[in-house]
Amino acid sequence: MRLLRSARRLLVHTLPFAALSAAACTPARPATPSAVAPTGPASVHATQLPNWGIVIHGGAGTIARGSMTPEMEAEYRAKLTEALMAGHRVLAAGGSSLDAVQAAVNVMEDSPLFNAGKGAVFTHEGKNELDAAVMDGRTLAAGAVAGVTHVKNPINLARAVMEKSRHVMLMGAGAEAFAKQQGIELVPESYFFTERRWQSLEKAKADEAKYGAEALLGPEYSVPEDRKFGTVGAVALDKNGNLAAATSTGGVTNKRWGRVGDAPIIGAGTYANNRSCAVSATGTGEYFIRATVAHDICARVEYQGVSLAEAADQVVMKKLVEMGGDGGIIAMDPLGNVSMTFNTSGMYRGRVGADGKPEVAIYRD
Ligand code: ASP
Repeated sequence: MRLLRSARRLLVHTLPFAALSAAACTPARPATPSAVAPTGPASVHATQLPNWGIVIHGGAGTIARGSMTPEMEAEYRAKLTEALMAGHRVLAAGGSSLDAVQAAVNVMEDSPLFNAGKGAVFTHEGKNELDAAVMDGRTLAAGAVAGVTHVKNPINLARAVMEKSRHVMLMGAGAEAFAKQQGIELVPESYFFTERRWQSLEKAKADEAKYGAEALLGPEYSVPEDRKFGTVGAVALDKNGNLAAATSTGGVTNKRWGRVGDAPIIGAGTYANNRSCAVSATGTGEYFIRATVAHDICARVEYQGVSLAEAADQVVMKKLVEMGGDGGIIAMDPLGNVSMTFNTSGMYRGRVGADGKPEVAIYRD
């Protein structure tokens, strides 16, 4: 009964596929509570016909208008669109939200534009250590990997951990041994070399020498004028009303000592639960871990009965801001409501619904 009440509130306070530009707030839309299916844990918040779709991000950060050439901007927009449509194809054919988020993330992992897979940032030692996680909102099954150095698509390995092992999280050499056993594609370390990310490392090291290592402990641990985090993620709702979330990243430039961020930590950078929502995050991982961002948003939706938009606002625009954390999230709930909330000047993002019309955006306005 309590859940049914919260489902009604959810219906009243949120709007499916809200305008991309109104990233922080989703306005209310009147709706009929009778659209709520009253039975089954997975369908407590669901409409008869799920408002299916997929939402992606390619990282949040200081992305000022005019800081990119028009060609570069067009490249980002095209790749985001390609990723969205890869997920949309899966969903339109009746595929699962898990397959859709994986397909979308794979497109971005294979592109040098994003800080995941091919375009991963460098560690202090000049290596690329990749993290990823995936979660199934229907079963609460999850899989994650941290610090892998030869896996072309870490999200595929995270999925294999979820489905083919007894564990939730594998790291480093052990994760790669499992990848080999599972026939997951491995690549030489040189595959991850990109000049752009190498230059970022050089710059971060120069800044470290200039300002001191303490500067790297704060939100400004990436150089101030280049704080584009670039992690990738996707959340989706399929035709069966099931949610899934996936996140993949190279972490942060100049990271050391086996640092692991929020992306592979279930409840921090990635979470999905059919009873509340699916979330993928990007930003200063240390803060997202301490704020348990993804789970906190879903918990507020489930236990307080607030709308997805309200929950995302409370966590990203208030709690995180007060702590000093930079970044944003994408999220969907079981009705297909969308939130793309970020406290930075930009976040590469996009969404597409059943109508097949993708929308992408980069800046706040
Ligand atoms: N959240 C990621 C991390 O801390 C960084 C990012 O979003 O780009 O590893």
